[in-house]
Amino acid sequence: MPEALPDPFRAEGVLFDLDGVLTPTAEVHMRAWKVVFDDVFERWGITPAYSDADYFDYVDGKKRYDGVASLLRSRNVEIPWGAVDDPPEAETICGIGNRKNAAFAQSLRAEGIAPFPGSLALVEKLSAAGVPIGVVSSSKNAEEVLAAAGIRSFFRVVVDGVVAERENLASKPAADMFHAGAVALGVDPARSIAVEDATSGAASAAAAGFATVIGVDRGAGADALRDAGATVVVEDLDVFLADQAITAADSTLSPDSEETA
Ligand SMILES: [Mg+2]
Repeated sequence: MPEALPDPFRAEGVLFDLDGVLTPTAEVHMRAWKVVFDDVFERWGITPAYSDADYFDYVDGKKRYDGVASLLRSRNVEIPWGAVDDPPEAETICGIGNRKNAAFAQSLRAEGIAPFPGSLALVEKLSAAGVPIGVVSSSKNAEEVLAAAGIRSFFRVVVDGVVAERENLASKPAADMFHAGAVALGVDPARSIAVEDATSGAASAAAAGFATVIGVDRGAGADALRDAGATVVVEDLDVFLADQAITAADSTLSPDSEETA
């Protein structure tokens, strides 16, 4: 039996992570990080080589510079932090982060981005139903990605990396980001839903007191998401539409059609 699904249409509010939940930006991010880290690792002779597992273990869901520092620390490499306005060539934590951002922005402009169909459909329905929805993303590119995907207008609030820096919010997995999202949306986390594809994000939402944390498994792994704090794990958000569709169809059945079912 599939596990019971929460009903997002009955939530006080729903907060979505962006990259990997609403848009397949995780792939664009992953490619950009790989280009940058393959180059750094090769030039500096760092082993073992950078892998997709490193992305999920050290980078995914974190603020950009924290991800760089976390990954390098895993290889016992320490370099200066630098400053946020370091040029992309700088061999600092910030320089490497800015280099990755340049690679990401170039890819977004060149290829554009389409939302996951299941996510788009759920967002449209929640919005039409009047359920307050918002975005909680560590990315400083969130507004750009939402605009490129054509879905910005659905969301009442966007708490992103720009807001995090301005308001000094700690990186996921700390509670700060999802807590700030709930405050901005004006909802009680205990009666609301958070949707995340990263373990750090699921942990942030759980720490912020969200009673329901939907993990979307796009590669992090169902067990890892549950261990981090997800209360339910799905492969795509379209399952919530299917559930609704079945309920709606059942309610319109006449006694006659029930007998023939
Ligand atoms: Mg994500």
